Amino acid sequence: MHSVLDPPPIDAAGTERRAAESRDPATGELWRRVSSASHTDVADAVARARAARAAWTSLSTSRRADHLRGFRRVLFRRRWEMAELIERENGKPAAEAMVAEVLSVLDMARYYARVAPRLLRPRALRPGDPAVMRKKVRIHREPFGVVGIIAPWNYPLLLSAGIALPALVAGNAVILKPSEYTPSSGLLLGEMLREAGVPADVVQLLPGDGAVGAALIDCGVDKLFFTGSTATGQRVALACGARMIPCVLELGGSDAAIVLDDAHLDRAVRGIVWGRFSNAGQTCVAPKRLLVSAAVYDEFLARLTSEVEALRLAPPAGGACDVGPLIRPWQGEQLRAQLADATAGGAWVVASSGRAETLHEGFFPPTILAGVTPDMRVMREETFGPLLPVMKVSSDDEAIGVANASSFGLSASVWTRDAVRARRIAARLEVGSVVINDVGVNAAMSEAPHGGVKGSGAGRSHGEEGLLECVRSKTVISDTLGWGEPWWFSYTPELRRDLDAFARFAHGRGLRERLSGVSRSLGMFFRARRS
Ligand code: NDP
Repeated sequence: MHSVLDPPPIDAAGTERRAAESRDPATGELWRRVSSASHTDVADAVARARAARAAWTSLSTSRRADHLRGFRRVLFRRRWEMAELIERENGKPAAEAMVAEVLSVLDMARYYARVAPRLLRPRALRPGDPAVMRKKVRIHREPFGVVGIIAPWNYPLLLSAGIALPALVAGNAVILKPSEYTPSSGLLLGEMLREAGVPADVVQLLPGDGAVGAALIDCGVDKLFFTGSTATGQRVALACGARMIPCVLELGGSDAAIVLDDAHLDRAVRGIVWGRFSNAGQTCVAPKRLLVSAAVYDEFLARLTSEVEALRLAPPAGGACDVGPLIRPWQGEQLRAQLADATAGGAWVVASSGRAETLHEGFFPPTILAGVTPDMRVMREETFGPLLPVMKVSSDDEAIGVANASSFGLSASVWTRDAVRARRIAARLEVGSVVINDVGVNAAMSEAPHGGVKGSGAGRSHGEEGLLECVRSKTVISDTLGWGEPWWFSYTPELRRDLDAFARFAHGRGLRERLSGVSRSLGMFFRARRS
């Protein structure tokens, strides 16, 4: 690895590699440049991780859980350092980084330290098939080996640690590539894990851009976790497929928020505004398509407008900020193109918090669009910023139809006082999770599996399922009696009759048919026992 704060190096092939850069998104000021790992660095890291992981795996799960507890103490002690670093590098206010990232990760460390010893313990099974019921079956959970994580910039701590912690407690070595836009948050996470006693080669941080991510796959990590856009996720999945590397993909979303006629309007307005505009709208589970029942549409839109116009778009550093800058100004280009497409098609802006002239174009004013139709880009594509299209719907069926008419399927929210109606709608939504009268909470709850369907990805993080993604199960079946089996060679006409009797005994309809196969079946096993 190269040291920090030096210029981007030239790799063996002579091509310049892009350094990872920590910039203040509010000013564009470059305050740290971190050398990108080369292909050789990645190969070395994978080799070191492989060598180091044997000792790590040989620790008991409880010992590894102690390291997670240690990490929790370190993160707790250095909590504001982490939150302020995220503010400076990602642009969200430190208070938001504390709520959405630091506090969530503190809880995840506690949760995985608690549940891992139980979940990863070998499990005995009792087979139900009478032909094999005397065998002893145990399911062991084994770590994959070296787990690669390609992490995004929008939640640089949550979406890194949320995977690294279960991977580590399961006995894997971890190589994490933080986003090239937030390398410092990633490096601080690595430093904290090492401070908690995780060996340096068991958790390695490799800053860099897509080339480093591609090299991780090329160098043969044993499992890969990717969070990012659907387009890149597809490329990652193809590369993993070519090498038979299993991967978990947490991709984009275009979540629908469905506001029904009986919703608590104040809670719905405040929740949706927070869900959509926190982190400057750069959240995978943010409500990105608002579907409001015609009966409350006008009133809801009026409340939404005044709430959005009151949002303070400002640099987060001063403290008087609700919505900060986008990660980089280019992130706004896509939003402006989506906005232009919608207004050209007849949609109009009903609310905008406005942008002071002193702010650069990376500050995108929180904006509400009305008069949208399902064919517009804002409804079909992911809008990764503070832009919220609103549509009037006249029935629950129409809301469900519009919500499901998306290539994404990450999550959705339903706002109503009627729990039965909400659950009925939730059952019909084609998404990985549904939140009723709340928003975003699904992505950071330690116990709840998080992930999408359709273009939103495959696999799950968080919860028990997130831990089980970090291990493969090995089945060990043992038979110590020394008997033969009736289905071993040779096949005879008698075996055919025996097997037919056994089929009747095991699967026949009714007691009479089943009893008709008992004695011949017992005879079959008895004879095999002696052979
Ligand atoms: P991308 O999904 O495009 O890229 C994520 C990371 O993967 C980057 O470091 C990228 O490097 C790297 N990468 C690119 N190609 C490969 C490859 N072949 N193999 C391995 N790694 C690769 O996200 P971006 O950060 O560039 O943001 C683009 C868009 O993605 C955003 O506008 C947003 O819409 C969406 N996004 C969604 C997130 C979510 O939580 N769902 C999180 C972040 C972004 P490089 O930049 O060099 O291409």
